[in-house]
Amino acid sequence: MIQSLGVIGAGQMGTGIAQVAAAVGCDVVLLDAQIDWARRGLERLGATLEKLVQKGKLEAEKRSALLGRIRIGDGYSSLVDCDFIIEAAPEKQALKLEIFQQLAKVARPETILASNTSSISITLLGAQTRQPNRVIGMHFMNPVPLMKLVEVIRALPTDEETYQATIGLARRLGKEVVTAKDIPGFIVNRVLIPFLNEACFALQEGLGTVEDIDKGVKLGLNHPMGPFELADLIGLDTCLQIAEVLQRELGEDKYRPAPLLRQYVAAGWNGRKSGRGFYKY
Ligand code: NAD
Repeated sequence: MIQSLGVIGAGQMGTGIAQVAAAVGCDVVLLDAQIDWARRGLERLGATLEKLVQKGKLEAEKRSALLGRIRIGDGYSSLVDCDFIIEAAPEKQALKLEIFQQLAKVARPETILASNTSSISITLLGAQTRQPNRVIGMHFMNPVPLMKLVEVIRALPTDEETYQATIGLARRLGKEVVTAKDIPGFIVNRVLIPFLNEACFALQEGLGTVEDIDKGVKLGLNHPMGPFELADLIGLDTCLQIAEVLQRELGEDKYRPAPLLRQYVAAGWNGRKSGRGFYKY
């Protein structure tokens, strides 16, 4: 059974994954590019859990036990004892390739290496390692503790044992699983990103205001969030990076990112995490 989990990237997804894993009793090592960034991620998680305690949704002892199971890593060698390592660094291909090359140097042969990537080829990530059969996509949804789905992506060489262990872990974390082929965007983002991008084109064309487009989608299509609320939650930088992968890898113009989306990212208006996106926070 998977007992120790390494998480690379202490951003919104990485800390969420650390939270749900620690909540079911896994020992988590949380690693970021800098030790201080990992500490900050853990502090943010602590603050989130504190709010749950204040609201009576989490017992104080459970919060302390959960946080006690997460430790900050210092370099890749901190991950050597992990049974399962999941990468949740920014959606940049070169960065993820480099991370998998580093992991190949330290991970034990039996360790499963997973990526939470939204769109980048798992097969390509696996090719950076000595055991591509142990590499798999494990794509959580945001916010991780609340969203039920995990998309599992089998790369070309992923073996059955790795696949079954990953599904087993996802279920232990209380998630439902869908399995996708290793084709850019997989299932969820293949459908979602063109939809969010189209909303950006609609806004750019003056079809309606941010508020009206969101309201139209929420009430007209029965979506819990409008496209701009959702894009702000995901991070506009991440949305743009995924759109670029879809356009480049699938080679079709219909995936081209809206210039307005590029402009927001250029301004640093990346959504909730930066205090401003289509809305101000
Ligand atoms: P984020 O920007 O919140 O966090 C990324 C973290 O990675 C940051 O803490 C950053 O400091 C860290 N990092 C940067 N360089 C690193 C390195 N070299 N080594 C280790 N850590 C490094 O991003 P996020 O929203 O958490 O997204 C992370 C991944 O999860 C991306 O691949 C994204 O596509 C995927 N994802 C995001 C969402 C979403 O809604 N945001 C949903 C599903 C999957």
